[in-house]
Amino acid sequence: MSDTDKILEIYRGYDRDKLSIATIGSHSALQILNGAKAEGFKSIVLCKPERVETYRRFGVADKIITLNSYDEILEGGRVYEKLIAENAIIVPHGSFISNVGTDKVEKRLTLPILGNRDILRWDSDRTLERDWLLKAGIKMPKETKDPKDIDRLSIVKFPGARGGRGYFLVANYEDFVRKTAYQVDRGRITRDDIKKATIQEYISGVSMYLSYFYSPLKKEVELFGIDQRLESNIDGLTRIPALDQTNSYIEPSYVVVGNVPIVVRESLIPRIFEMGDSIVKVSKKLAPPGMMGPFCLETIVTHDLEFIAFEISARIVAGTNPFIGGSPYS
Ligand code: AMP
Repeated sequence: MSDTDKILEIYRGYDRDKLSIATIGSHSALQILNGAKAEGFKSIVLCKPERVETYRRFGVADKIITLNSYDEILEGGRVYEKLIAENAIIVPHGSFISNVGTDKVEKRLTLPILGNRDILRWDSDRTLERDWLLKAGIKMPKETKDPKDIDRLSIVKFPGARGGRGYFLVANYEDFVRKTAYQVDRGRITRDDIKKATIQEYISGVSMYLSYFYSPLKKEVELFGIDQRLESNIDGLTRIPALDQTNSYIEPSYVVVGNVPIVVRESLIPRIFEMGDSIVKVSKKLAPPGMMGPFCLETIVTHDLEFIAFEISARIVAGTNPFIGGSPYS
C-alpha cells in the first residue's frame, strides 16, 4: 500500500464529527490551537516536557501529550496510534518541519496533515524555491555562485535551521574572505558551511512577509496578514550611531525574536494578489495538486515599489502570530 493510500485509509476510519487538530508545541502553536478550538475542534499539543506549562497556562489545548522525541509521532512511534484514536489532523509549522525533518514528514508521518506534504521540499531547498518563484514571475535578488564575483553589497546566508544566526554582509571578495575567516575562527561556521552558503544581493527597502491561504474549496488565494520580523541584533544595531558602530565592531545577526503587523500601502495590494495567485498556479505543475492552505512570501519592497522575494514558506509562518484575533485583511 502506498503512503497516500495508507493516509487515506486512516482518514476514512476517522469519526468526522470528532476530529481534532494537533501540532507540535512551538512556533505558531498557540494560535493554531486557539483557532482549532474557535472552530469547534478538539485541540492537541504535542510538546517536550519543558513546554507543557506554556500551553497549560493559555488553556488552548484540550489535550497535552508530552514527547521525549519528535520521532514518537511517526509511524511506529509511541504517540502515533494515540493520534489516530483522536482522529487527529496535523497542522505542520516551521518548527514542526525543522524538528521532525522534511524527509520524515514526507515518508514517515503517515497521518493526515493540512496541506500538500510534497511541496515542503520546495520550500526547504533554496534552488527549488528559486525555480518556483522565478517561474511564477516573481523577482528575486541576484545570486553569486563564486565569491570572487561579488560586485555589490550582498548577504551571506547559511542553510538549515540556524534561523539567521551568523549571516553577514559583504561588499566584495576580500571582505568575504576576511569575514568568513573571522566566523570560522570563532567556531560559528565551518568550512563546509561556507561551501553551502548562499550569497545574495542585499536588497535595501522595507521587509514584508506576506501570509496567504489558498483554499482548494473556494479556489481562491486569501491574504491573511502582513508582518515584519524583529531580528536581533540587526534591529538593535540601527539604534547605534554610525560613528559608534565603526568604533566598536558589533557583528550583525538576523535571529528572529518576534513579529509586528504591517498595513500595506493599498495600491500595492493588486500585485500581492497577483503574486499569490501565480505561486499557486505554478505549484500545481511542480508538485500536484499544488499549494494548499497557508504559505508565506518573504519580500522586500524597494523604493520603486517593487516586491523582491528572498524566500517562500510553503506552510504557516510565525509571522501570522500577531493575528490570533484577526488581521486587517483576514
Ligand atoms: P532568511 O534566512 O532567508 O529568511 O533571511 C533572514 C533575514 O535576513 C531576513 O528576514 C532579512 O532580514 C534578511 N535578508 C535575507 N535575504 C536578504 C536580502 N537578499 N536582502 C536583504 N535582507 C535579506
